[in-house]
This record gives sequence, C-alpha cells and structure tokens, in this order.
Amino acid sequence: MSIVRIEHVYKDYLLGDQKVQALKDITLSFESGVFLAIAGPSGSGKTTLLNLIGCIDTPTSGKIFINEQDVSGRTADQLADLRSRTIGFIFQTFNLLPVLSAAENVEYPLLQRRDVSESERKQRVDYFLDIVGLSKFADHRPNQLSGGQRQRVAIARALVIQPSIVLADEPTANLDHKTGEEILLLMKQINRAFNTTFIFSTHDKRVIAKADRLVRVDDGEIVALGVRAESKWSLARQRRPKAASDLESAQ
Ligand code: ADP
Ligand code: MG
Repeated sequence: MSIVRIEHVYKDYLLGDQKVQALKDITLSFESGVFLAIAGPSGSGKTTLLNLIGCIDTPTSGKIFINEQDVSGRTADQLADLRSRTIGFIFQTFNLLPVLSAAENVEYPLLQRRDVSESERKQRVDYFLDIVGLSKFADHRPNQLSGGQRQRVAIARALVIQPSIVLADEPTANLDHKTGEEILLLMKQINRAFNTTFIFSTHDKRVIAKADRLVRVDDGEIVALGVRAESKWSLARQRRPKAASDLESAQ
C-alpha cells in the first residue's frame, strides 16, 4: 500500500493574468517508511509539491491519495482534520511561535485534538522534547535557542501528533552545514525508530546524498527518480524508548 500516491497532477498559479505552471503531469507513489528527498533548483516546484502532499493546497487537476484515500474534493475542514492527525510539517525558517516556550510550541498542534487528554498532551510533549534532546530547554522561548535547537523544537512539534508522514521544506537551508547534518541525522533516526515517512525538499547535494529515495524536479516536471540501496549512514540500531510503547498503547 502506498502512503502517498499522486496521479497526473498539475498545479497552475495565476500571477496577474499570467498562468504559471508550477507542476506538470506529476505521477509518483511512495511506500510507508521512506526517507525521501525532493530535489531541484529554486522555483522548480518543490514547495508546491509538498503543499499538495500536505493537503495545504489542492491540485488544479489530477488526484492525490493519502493512505489510499482520495483527498481531492474534500472540504477545507476535512483536510484540516486529516492534517491534524496524519501530517507533521517542518519548515526552513522553523516557524515557531515566538511568545511560546519550546514546550508550548510542541504542544500547540495537540490543542485542536479533542481526543488527546491534557495529561497525554503533557506526556507527549515531554517525550518528544526528550527525543530531540531538548528536555532542559522546555521553558526557553525560540529567541533563547540556537537555529539547530529551534529546528529540533519544530521536529518535536511535527512528531507530537504521531503523524504517519512528516513533510520538511528545506529543513536545513537556514542552518550551518554541521548543524544541518545533525538535524538530518535526527530525522533519519526518527524515521528508522518509528517508521515515520519523511519527505523533505532540498537543493543541497550533501542533503540529497542522505536520502534513501530521490525525486528530482525541474521546471515543474519529474526529471529523475532514484533509489539508494544502502544509505550513506550506517545507523546503530535504534533503541525504541520505553515511553513510546506507553504512548502507543495509550492511544
Ligand atoms: P521551489 O520550492 O522549488 O523553489 P515553488 O514550488 O515555490 O518552487 O514554485 C514553483 C513555481 O511556481 C515558481 O515559478 C514560483 O514562482 C511559482 N509560484 C509558487 N507559488 C506561487 C504563488 N502563490 N503564486 C504564483 N506563482 C507561484
Ligand atoms: Mg520552496
């Protein structure tokens, strides 16, 4: 079963009276658990593609299936509900709320989930702050954190809904190389430990090299697909933290 299936998707934007074809006839499918890079130069359609997969935007034509469910034709409320349960987002500029602490930022996506009790909310926030190594910084505001720490908060925020897919739009582009590598390694560890699907965009060769699968886009079209048999990193077997099974059994 594919976690994401895209069939003959086109996306046009209107810029004044000019039509911009941002995506042209995209057909793709990804299996659950992939660590996949969408690579391409600036303006090639990466963000547009992620926004469509993330149900933030809808295609001009074509169909998108998430967990084999057709999401075209759904109302904005239905898409918001799907997003709040299924898809975590990570952005280039972190997009944390500056007046909230790290813990409050992580908690934020759960506030609209009525099925998650306050105690479970707190438990998940603690757990995912711990996963990203920031337990000690729970009370810090974003401006009291480094860029890498901010992106770790954003990763915890994406994970707190226990999504099946995490979408990350150029997650390392605002970080120095070493910090970017650390963030990518953390994402990969989470991908391996929880089998969470990661789809991230990048134009950085070094980031592309860390992906298991690659979709290369240029000028709105797929120009290459790649599968990496062996990942560049040999990760030590991930210990699945005890609290994770607690959280799952609590669901
Ligand atoms: P990337 O993320 O690879 O830089 P984008 O998906 O942002 O590319 O953009 C793809 C193309 O669509 C570009 O030509 C861009 O200018 C255009 N585009 C993106 N968003 C809009 C928009 N809201 N209105 C008009 N054109 C847009
Ligand atoms: Mg972009």
